[in-house]
Order: sequence, then C-alpha cells, then structure tokens
Amino acid sequence: MKPVLEHYTVEQVLEGFVFNELEGKGLYGLDGRLVIQPEYQRHYIYGDGRRDVAVIDSLLKSYPLGLIYFNVDRENDRLEVLDGQQRITSVGRFVTGKFAIKVAGKEQVFSSLPKDDQQKILGSELTVYECEGTETEIKEWFQTINIAGVPLNKQELLNAIYSGSFVTKAKAEYSNSNNAHMQKWQAYVKGDPKRQEVLEESLDWVASSQGKSIDAYLAQHRHDTDIAGLQTYFTSVIDWIGSVFIRPPDKEMRGLEWGRLYEAYHSNSYKAAEIDKAVDELRADEAVKSAKGIYEYLLGGATSPRLLNIRLFEDRTKRAGYEQQTQKAKAAGVSNCPLCALGTDNNKTRIYKQNEMDADHVTAWSKGGSTDLANLTMLCQTHNRAKGNR
Ligand SMILES: [Zn+2]
Repeated sequence: MKPVLEHYTVEQVLEGFVFNELEGKGLYGLDGRLVIQPEYQRHYIYGDGRRDVAVIDSLLKSYPLGLIYFNVDRENDRLEVLDGQQRITSVGRFVTGKFAIKVAGKEQVFSSLPKDDQQKILGSELTVYECEGTETEIKEWFQTINIAGVPLNKQELLNAIYSGSFVTKAKAEYSNSNNAHMQKWQAYVKGDPKRQEVLEESLDWVASSQGKSIDAYLAQHRHDTDIAGLQTYFTSVIDWIGSVFIRPPDKEMRGLEWGRLYEAYHSNSYKAAEIDKAVDELRADEAVKSAKGIYEYLLGGATSPRLLNIRLFEDRTKRAGYEQQTQKAKAAGVSNCPLCALGTDNNKTRIYKQNEMDADHVTAWSKGGSTDLANLTMLCQTHNRAKGNR
C-alpha cells in the first residue's frame, strides 16, 4: 500500500457536508465522494464544547490540524475517512452553524464571524494521505495511527477489520444508547455503548460459550444478515440473571463476568427468594470484604468463601494467640515463632514482640480453615511472608 499525499482545502472537503444529529454522525464530504463515517468508525465524540472548539481555534490560529488519512475504495469510486473523522466533523458542524465558539469573550457562530475569519477556516489546507490497501494492511494502519489523539480500543479496531452486515446490525443493537433496553442491560454490563463496550461484552459472551475469541466469531459471521445468535444468547444471560437474583440490581452486579457465570451455573436450579435473603445477609455481614464476590459465591452453593475476601483475624484474637504462644515458648526456652524454633540459627530462641509477627491460618482459609483462635498461629514476619509466597 503506497499512500499518496494530497492537499484539500476545508471548503473542498466540506462540500455537501451532512451531519446526522440523530445518529451523531458526519456523513459525507467532497461532494458526496467522501464517506466521513464509514460503518466501522466510532460515533462523533468531539461534540463536547471543548475538543470541537479546539479544532476551530487551531484553524483560526493557522495551526495545522495534523495528518488525515483517507482510504481509497476504488470499486465504488469513493474515499473513506480512516483517520480524521472527528476533526472533519467538528469543522463541518461549525461551518453549518451547529455550535458556537468564543472569540474575544463573545459567542460566535460561523456566520457571525468576520468574513476574513470565515475565509481563513474555509481556505485552510488539509494534508491527507490517501491509502489503498487490503484488510490486513488497513488493520496495520489502524494499529499504528492514533485516531485523532484517541486510540481505537480493541472492539473499535475489530469493527473496522470485520466491517460488514453483521457488525452494522450488531452495532445498531448494542452500540446505540437510545436502545430501550440499554438501561436494563447496563445494570449488569459495564462500559460505554458508544465506545463499543456493550457490544464487546455481548460478543464475548456468545463467543466464549462456543470456545471462540471475539475475533474468530466475527470472522465467521461477518457476512451474516442477521444477528439472531448473538441476540438470543445475550438475552438468555440477561434474563437468567434476573431470574436468579430477583432484587433490583445492586451496583456491585455491574460488570461481573456474567457470561462465564451463566455458562457455569445456568443449569442449576435456585430458589430465588432464598438467594435474595442470602444476598441481603452477606451484604450486611461486616466480615465480607468483597460484595462483588457474593453472587458467584451463592451461585456456587456457598462453597468458596475466598470469593468473599473474608476479613482476617480480629485484633483481640491475634493478641490472645500471641500471649498463649509466647508463654509456652518461654517455658520451653525456644522462639515464639514456631518455625524459627525449628531452626539452628540465632533466632532459634528469639522472642519476638507482637508487632514483629503476623497472624497465619494453620489450615489455609481458602481450604476452609476458620478465622478463630483454634486455627491461628503467630509467625515472625519473615516466615509468614515465606509461607504466603508458596
Ligand atoms: Zn520465624
């Protein structure tokens, strides 16, 4: 792929510019020959009164906007913006009166600017690399170029590589903040739909259930004209969560690995009312340090307390253990660290102060050992660390 360097004025690029307010997209330029937002591109995210305004300020100060890349689609005699969509859309929206900037403390829209400033914007030269390439080459471009200072995330990149009917339909469903179900989904799924993070999660769930990567799943379905498989799986997971946990979603339920949990547990049966009560109890239990772990803990039949990150020994338990152990050690003339007492060096008879020792579970807590005096041993810090690292 040999990029060709071209120069356009802003006026040329914006000829026939259309911005779709509903979808938040800049659509066309260069008199219809330039697709400003191909389907794999992210939505317009510069419309925040800061980044869009900065683009206009740069033009008025005659600063360059930076390199812009177009992809040449020879088959359809079109150009697609590979990198520069946010900048071009910002200028296009300004010139068509969609937002104002402050000049010397005064709000100005394009039409209220002095003529010479208008000319400065329209006459600004854009430096464009026009590239023609295969899928793989375009993929490499995307990985090396920094899209307008905001690198494409993983899913945005995948959407570019596997652009086609499937991605278009999947985006319409899962990357659309106006989807009526989005609020319900977002109680469980973390991320910004506009940055393709809900789409990514939905794909991850269905792909993982088939032992595939998102990449492989998209490659396989790229030219599908419906997304039924993706939708059915996603809905099954969401509905299952709501049937097991009947409570209004707790904030800790957002962003759990629901796809994995569904695969592991959905064929078990649960008594929803009992689960609900257990969730309440665990949430109220001060020893439970990880509220996020409660849901998997209960799905797994309350067998893995490590998921709850239970608080370790209470201070008074440690003190009692220390006193008991130290008295015995002194009487026997050995160290109060039982591991030091087994050794042959100077520490064999050393009596540590309590603040030089740490509490350790005799039977590991992860193996079901309890957190009480009977299962406590105080070790010097060196030995406790060594044990913890095993
Ligand atoms: Zn020791």
